[in-house]
Amino acid sequence: MPKSSFVDFKAVKAAITMEQVLEHYGLLDKFKRGSDSLSGPCPIHKGSNPTQFRVSISKNIWNCFSECKRGGNVLDFIARMDDVSIHAAALKAIEWFHLDPEAMSADSEQETENPGQTPKTGEAPRLKQAARPAPAQENGAPNKPLQFRLDKLERSHPYLAERGLTLETVIDFGVGYCGKGMMADRIAIPIQNLEGKVVAYAGRFPGEAPEGTPKYKLPQGFRKSLELFNIDRASKESGPLVIVEGFFGCMKLHQHGCRKVVALMGSTMSAAQEELIRRHTDSNSQVIVILDEDEAGRAGREDIAVRLAKFVFVKVHTFDEEEQQPENMSAEEVKQLLGGAL
Ligand SMILES: [Zn+2]
Repeated sequence: MPKSSFVDFKAVKAAITMEQVLEHYGLLDKFKRGSDSLSGPCPIHKGSNPTQFRVSISKNIWNCFSECKRGGNVLDFIARMDDVSIHAAALKAIEWFHLDPEAMSADSEQETENPGQTPKTGEAPRLKQAARPAPAQENGAPNKPLQFRLDKLERSHPYLAERGLTLETVIDFGVGYCGKGMMADRIAIPIQNLEGKVVAYAGRFPGEAPEGTPKYKLPQGFRKSLELFNIDRASKESGPLVIVEGFFGCMKLHQHGCRKVVALMGSTMSAAQEELIRRHTDSNSQVIVILDEDEAGRAGREDIAVRLAKFVFVKVHTFDEEEQQPENMSAEEVKQLLGGAL
């Protein structure tokens, strides 16, 4: 650590994005993506109007047009969310996003050695450069493989059959009803990294989740934005890469013979996920994006198509009916989609 423990707020602000911060709070899924914006209900005053809170992606600022009637930068947001000072917010950000504490400290020694230079012009460019992480590591350290496995999962739970999964698929993906522990009374779905190591279990409530109970439970600290569900196996298959939103859509397509399929675990594609896809495709590759036919899905697929089209051939699949999703596709429809590639 440098001599001074003062935090360089400017460097911290430059190193993290509002998107990362929303993701950290598990809020990103509730936000709708525009070309340069993210909008959703205000998490500060806990409003419900989906347009009251807006983030400008390029400016990296937020605004609540409702009750809060104010806005600010990433640090102001953390400070308001956690009810702490800006200084404490910056320290939290450094820890959460694994920023280099040295690069985030105001270097008092250099300031006194260069009295003729204002710290602003002397320090900022260097710190900014050091602070800005490479795109691939935007969200910090990777998810660590779990040191345990959930065993005795009930493979024949009726909910799995209700979703149309065969026992073969259930066993293939290692999912099952969990009777105890962290994922008790939920369907545990193992999420594996590129090397096939389990990095988390997602817990799906088996049925309509009651008010106040989340549909999905993910372990604290796990960053789903760093993973693509089923990438370990999909990367070994040939043919077009199919991208869907959810676990069940992915498992269902797989069951129908579409083996090169991954799930974003949401309706948006993170920078890390984009990087994963880029690493497993080339300019001759074809990617088929099939998100749910709803507002979030439409916004998501538009954004994904624009971003992926820079390096692969992208096809966007749309459904005729609102609320349709890949999970409901028949084997025949999947076959048609892949153009007889099966
Ligand atoms: Zn508000």
